Amino acid sequence: MSVKISGVKGMNDVLPGQVGRWQELEAVAREIFALYGYREVRTPVVEPHALFARGVGEGTDIVSKEMYVFEDKGEEKLALRPEGTAGTVRAFIEHGAFVEGPQKWFYMGPMFRRERPQKGRYRQFHQIGCEAFGVAEPAIDAEQIAMLADYLGRLGVQATLKLNSVGDAACRPAYLADLKAWLVERAGQLCADCRERTQKNPLRALDCKVPSCQPVLEQAPRLGDRLCGGCRDHFAAVKAGLDALGVAYAVEPRLVRGLDYYVRTAYEFTSDALGAQSAVAGGGRYDGLVETLGGPPTPGIGFALGEERLTLILEALQRPVPVRRPAVFLISADEAGAKEVLRVAAALRKAGVACDLDGRGGKFARQIKQAERVGARYALVLGGAEVASGQAKLKDMETRAETPVALAELAAVLSRSA
Ligand code: AMP
Repeated sequence: MSVKISGVKGMNDVLPGQVGRWQELEAVAREIFALYGYREVRTPVVEPHALFARGVGEGTDIVSKEMYVFEDKGEEKLALRPEGTAGTVRAFIEHGAFVEGPQKWFYMGPMFRRERPQKGRYRQFHQIGCEAFGVAEPAIDAEQIAMLADYLGRLGVQATLKLNSVGDAACRPAYLADLKAWLVERAGQLCADCRERTQKNPLRALDCKVPSCQPVLEQAPRLGDRLCGGCRDHFAAVKAGLDALGVAYAVEPRLVRGLDYYVRTAYEFTSDALGAQSAVAGGGRYDGLVETLGGPPTPGIGFALGEERLTLILEALQRPVPVRRPAVFLISADEAGAKEVLRVAAALRKAGVACDLDGRGGKFARQIKQAERVGARYALVLGGAEVASGQAKLKDMETRAETPVALAELAAVLSRSA
């Protein structure tokens, strides 16, 4: 008995008809990141559970509710990575990369979170992320944000940059205590999530999206008014850097990154094309993280962007999916031709000419239909006569015009017309 098995909910296939979009946005990322000196790192999708518990934080939704955790035959507790920064930092420390001075790394790949699937939110999704280690100065913040703006611009994506400073160990604790007291006083006007966050992580309450909480939270004390001198200077320098580079931003006093190790710069790019899940990318400075994970004190700043969300935007913009078409489709007219097509195809491919053929052979009409379906630019019919004379006709699939060509010249002719 046959049984049809479907894929896991919230985990998607990307079929060949769509994959060109993914390849494009990844290729553009590699190109732009290289211009800024970021180099690729590849880390495993499975890491020790403890890495995320410590690196992302036990108190976060990602770790406490959404992570796929399993035991490896009674050994260490493992987890599918829910984000890319922790693993990248682990690798950075484990391989002693810090001894080489400042480093810029990027990654791309699947992440896993057991969230409620909806448009733009999946259980396996893909992120492209960048991390710059070893520079505490605001120049690197501005450069990284500008790079991301550059990247989105190259893809034709219009996104709004929201920017904030979340302070540091010098100024945040006093603010948090005041914020908590302020929120406790207004607990009756806030949602259950806000009330829970007030206790666990009051900063996160500011991030609440529930409409009835908005008028209350709008009035909340602002960290921006309470920054220490160091954080104020840093924030001013990041803004000045972006101004100098012509990158537009909106200061968003309630934009926070929920984790303790985030300091100073926090940023997000959002797009109206996305509906409810409007965040395309989010980033921030995490000067304490390398140390938390056992490395030497090393400042860092990074971001992650969601590839699915980018593809949704590109779709909404009706940007065509790039496709690679064969230059020529080889059609066999008879048995002699059927023997010849594979040999001719091999020679063309060796010369770097993309070609295809219908391995079934058979009727001309069926083969030419297949040539149309794969979008070949030309078709070439090969039979006993062509093999004997060394001459064939190249049929332009669009105009249907036929041009004689010597088989010996075929690769050269097609390379020229590519
Ligand atoms: P985060 O790691 O939560 O800051 O997310 C960074 C980016 O990854 C977001 O701006 C989204 O574009 C994307 N992202 C996060 N979670 C998901 C998800 N469950 N499904 C699809 N994309 C996501």
